Amino acid sequence: MPKVYVALGANLENPQQQLTQACRALGQLADNGQLQVSSFYRSTPMGDVPQPDYVNAVACLDTQLAPLALLDALQQIEQQQGRVREIRWGPRTLDLDLLLYGDAVIDLPRLRVPHYGLTERAFVLVPLAELNPKLQLPCGTLIKDLIDDAMRLSLQRLTPA
Ligand code: ATP
Ligand code: MG
Ligand code: MG
Repeated sequence: MPKVYVALGANLENPQQQLTQACRALGQLADNGQLQVSSFYRSTPMGDVPQPDYVNAVACLDTQLAPLALLDALQQIEQQQGRVREIRWGPRTLDLDLLLYGDAVIDLPRLRVPHYGLTERAFVLVPLAELNPKLQLPCGTLIKDLIDDAMRLSLQRLTPA
């Protein structure tokens, strides 16, 4: 059964609580109910839209759901938590991105895996490496080799509330 990694991000309406709630929902997609979750990290928003800082994390689960069914489920959780799609990279209550689906490489109009931003986003790479220091991309690149000091310094690790 494939191990999948999902990025969580929120910057509206109590972001830490949004992530905690999303983790409960993600646990229900896991085959054995087991979900591994990284630390939560505070990050500066991407792009030029003025908006609050983000809280980010990565979760890992085993699931029997096929990739597009999993994407549907992730988007349903976003909807349940009041996600409104307005401006690209604008503020949101919850973003769930499918980062990795086992070793699969998927290139569909609705779904690209590995996620296209994965290799350059500190708020994705650092929690991925925290969850699994030996994690590799399907091409064999080690996730931790993509992380530099500037990336680590750009994130603030949050202590659990
Ligand atoms: P970014 O993708 O740059 O992180 P975003 O997460 O804000 O931006 P969304 O509005 O959440 O973008 O998603 C836009 C579309 O991306 C979705 O409708 C979805 O079909 C598509 N998409 C493609 N690949 C993925 C993936 N790996 N995970 C989640 N959505 C994806
Ligand atoms: Mg995103
Ligand atoms: Mg998204």
